Amino acid sequence: MYIVTIDEEECSGCNACTDGCPAKILGFVDEKAVVTGDESECMGCESCVIVCPTGAISIMEI
Ligand code: SF4
Ligand code: SF4
Repeated sequence: MYIVTIDEEECSGCNACTDGCPAKILGFVDEKAVVTGDESECMGCESCVIVCPTGAISIMEI
């Protein structure tokens, strides 16, 4: 299982992570990326980490 952490201060709202998440668990609230789906469905693929231009996302396996 993975924990998805998104730093709201670092997020520029570019939408890249939400578009690229294969589990479709990332969305937007107030123009910031947040986990809107079931976090337990995160596959740990790190697509979101790779595409994020500001380094706002980190994935941790627990
Ligand atoms: S690691 Fe992959 S599955 Fe998990 S939130 Fe990021 S893009 Fe989605
Ligand atoms: S890719 Fe990074 S900067 Fe862009 S919306 Fe996602 S968290 Fe925010």
